[in-house]
Amino acid sequence: SERLKAGLSRTRETLNTPLTELFSRAKIDDDLLDDLETTLLTADCGVDATHWLLAELKATVKRDRLETPAQLRSALTQGLRTLLAPLEQPLQAEGHQPFVIMIAGVNGAGKTTSIGKLAKHFQSQGKSVLLAAGDTFRAAAREQLTAWGERNGVTVIAQESGDPAAVVFDAIHAARARKIDVVLADTAGRLPTQLHLMEEIAKVRRVIQKAHDTGPHEVLLVLDANIGQNAVQQVKAFDKAIGVTGLVITKLDGTAKGGVLAAIARQCPKPVRFIGVGEGIDDLQAFRTGEFVEALLG
Ligand code: GDP
Repeated sequence: SERLKAGLSRTRETLNTPLTELFSRAKIDDDLLDDLETTLLTADCGVDATHWLLAELKATVKRDRLETPAQLRSALTQGLRTLLAPLEQPLQAEGHQPFVIMIAGVNGAGKTTSIGKLAKHFQSQGKSVLLAAGDTFRAAAREQLTAWGERNGVTVIAQESGDPAAVVFDAIHAARARKIDVVLADTAGRLPTQLHLMEEIAKVRRVIQKAHDTGPHEVLLVLDANIGQNAVQQVKAFDKAIGVTGLVITKLDGTAKGGVLAAIARQCPKPVRFIGVGEGIDDLQAFRTGEFVEALLG
């Protein structure tokens, strides 16, 4: 879509300007492949995914007897699609009432904003939503969620102070009593330097399980695309602590590092449930491989 294209414009520029030059050259040679490698690395695809893509391209050149660089463009598009396709697994919040989604991420990743967008997303599917303000460390986060809930007719369970696990526990009981469809449970953000301090959110996870034997049904990690290659470490660290089942990748609109999805696909594959392409309430989209690759290269 045009909106996604506009959202991804910085990564698109980073890729397209050099690619246009590359693909208009006279022949496919080592120089061209080296420059292609640099271009992919510049868009933060990471060494692993970049090498995988180049190997795919070389194999295609041989197999299909490609002769001109122009023919490489569609091979690159196809390679990226193959790489990213496993990440396309849209979230279906069905089969449990309430369907409990736990949301984690480091401070500033876009967690609070994404929770608002997610609530809107589920409401637009006709589902009732309840928010648990489990980030009890930051009064501002709680106030932000509560105000947002009031404006949008979404109940927010919050406590002045105290244990995030207790807030989430209360929220799940409230949601059951009120027959709510989806619970979005915020957790306290961690600073990027405090990734080892994850016991707290691991505890929230255990409490959810206790309150609602089958839950959480989704553990979403919110990642800021601007962190580029560091995303891989973050996914691994959170996964170890809480068992990540899906990703929300935010701020793709403000960064040239959209290639980070390729790195994730190779190094720590998890379903990319949603991508954030702006600050507005509607700027959250389900991740679709075809659309995404088209927006980057098309
Ligand atoms: P939290 O600390 O993880 O809860 O982060 P916030 O939700 O408060 O977001 C931090 C900043 O990032 C805010 O200024 C948001 O408006 C902004 N933000 C969040 N998601 C996006 C996005 O997809 N695109 C852009 N451009 N900004 C975003």
